[in-house]
Amino acid sequence: MTLHIDTDWGKIPPYAIMIMLSFAAGIGSMFFINVKSGVRKHMAGYLSLLAPFMSIFFGLLLTYITTFGKGLGLSSIGGLFGMFAAVVTIALIGRDRREFRTMLTSCTLVVPLMYSISKIGCLCAGCCRGIACHGAFCIEYTGKRTGDICVFPVQLAETLLFFAIFVTGIILFMKKKQNTELFVIIASVLGKGGLDFLRASHTDKIISLNQILCLVIAAVAIAGYKYFKKLRIEN
Ligand SMILES: [Zn+2]
Repeated sequence: MTLHIDTDWGKIPPYAIMIMLSFAAGIGSMFFINVKSGVRKHMAGYLSLLAPFMSIFFGLLLTYITTFGKGLGLSSIGGLFGMFAAVVTIALIGRDRREFRTMLTSCTLVVPLMYSISKIGCLCAGCCRGIACHGAFCIEYTGKRTGDICVFPVQLAETLLFFAIFVTGIILFMKKKQNTELFVIIASVLGKGGLDFLRASHTDKIISLNQILCLVIAAVAIAGYKYFKKLRIEN
C-alpha cells in the first residue's frame, strides 16, 4: 500500500487550512479546559485571542533565526514557545497564581493536538518529510514542489503519535491523575526528538537543531514542573 500525494494543488493550499484547523481545535479546547477549571472567562478569552498571534509570530521568528534570515516558514517549536509566552503574558495581567497553573496545564494538554493536526498539513504539502524509502507504506510524492520521490511517512507517524499523546493526556487529566503534564511533556519530547531521526532534514547529522531544542524544552519543562509542584505542596 503506497500513499500517493500530488503537491500540485489548486488555489486552496492544504497547509494553510490545516494550520487554521490546528489553531481552532487547540485554542478552542484550551478555552474550554480553562473555563471548566475555574479560570475567569474573560481571562481565558484574552488568552485565546493572544495565543494564535504569539504562536505564529514565534513560529516564524524561530525559522528566521535558525536559517539566518533566509527561511520563511512556521517552526512548531517556535509556535510552542509562543503559546507559552501568551500564557505567561496573560498570567502577568491576571495576577492569579492558581489561574496561571491552570493555563499552563491546559496549554500543555492541547499542544500535542495542535501539532498532530498541523502535521497533516505538512503531509499534504510535502514539507518536513521523511527520509527516502521504497518499501510498503511509503509515500510517493509527485508535483513541482517535491519532484517525484518516495519517502517514509514521518508526518503521518507524528500525527498519529501526537493524537494518541493528546487523548491520553486528556484522559489522565479527567481522572485527575498526578504528573499528567509531566507525562505529556516527556512523551512529546521523546516522540518529536525520536521521529526527527526519520526526517530527510536529519540526513548527515548526528543530532539536529530540533533535537537539541527538544532537550532544552525537556530540561526547562521538568524544572518548571517541579517548581510548581513544590509550590502546591507548600500551599
Ligand atoms: Zn512542514
